[in-house]
Amino acid sequence: MNDYMLRATAASGSIRAFAVTAKDTCEKARVAHNMSPIATAAVGRTMMAALMMGYMMKNDSDTVSLHIEGSGPMKGINVTANTRGEVKGYAFDPTVDLPPKENGKLDVGNALGIGVLTVIKDIGLKDPYVGQTELKTGEIAEDITYYFAVSEQVPSSVGLGVLVDKDYSVKQAGGFILQLMPDVEDSVIDKLEEKIKTIPPVTTMLEEGKSPEDILDLLLGDFDLEILDKKEVGFKCDCSKERVFNAVAGLSKSDIESLVADNEPLEIRCQYCNKIYNFSIDKLKELL
Ligand SMILES: [Zn+2]
Repeated sequence: MNDYMLRATAASGSIRAFAVTAKDTCEKARVAHNMSPIATAAVGRTMMAALMMGYMMKNDSDTVSLHIEGSGPMKGINVTANTRGEVKGYAFDPTVDLPPKENGKLDVGNALGIGVLTVIKDIGLKDPYVGQTELKTGEIAEDITYYFAVSEQVPSSVGLGVLVDKDYSVKQAGGFILQLMPDVEDSVIDKLEEKIKTIPPVTTMLEEGKSPEDILDLLLGDFDLEILDKKEVGFKCDCSKERVFNAVAGLSKSDIESLVADNEPLEIRCQYCNKIYNFSIDKLKELL
């Protein structure tokens, strides 16, 4: 498997950790939505965060959605992941283009601007869990860190990176999430904070040929790191002609009548994967 993630613990279970490598996943999203480099980086980072957050959930049918809305030209991002390592997502404006930041990096923060991150966890209850925090930087990793701290009261360290090549294809993509459990010792926190300061950006480590195992070992090798599980990840949309048709069937009778009156086949594009579904007039008439 090229793209996968790991679940691990360290320091006698007082740290839980996740790491992911997802170059093909991000490239598939880029191609599906014909995304600019900034949109690729923003959606890629958000998808990797969602994958690891999905990995934290328990049941097969659980899903986590990250919804970002901002004042910047990209306007927002929608991403949904499940517990099986499948993720889908898109940018509201996939063509957004801005000059690079002073350090040469893609300016994801300004592409999103000031805004809000909403996390929706559907665990099969009547109402999903919804947590909402303001964007800290719009660079995604800091925003997810802030969300964990404020909304879930879990101190976390999040690293996410997507390296886009000259031809706009995804060259590297990866990330990690470290979370401190309530029983963590202060001395462990101090040492870990020092360690996090010294490690290079995720994409640099991936460029050096490091794997998620290596990244976790760099971060947590001094704290009795124990890797518990490994899971393949990929960009996968669960849309189908039947599901899209069911959505059409949910329209009001007058809306369906006006679609039939237009006398043209209905074309619907899935926002998450850009796949097009066509429905004939006769098929629409079945709904009346
Ligand atoms: Zn789809």
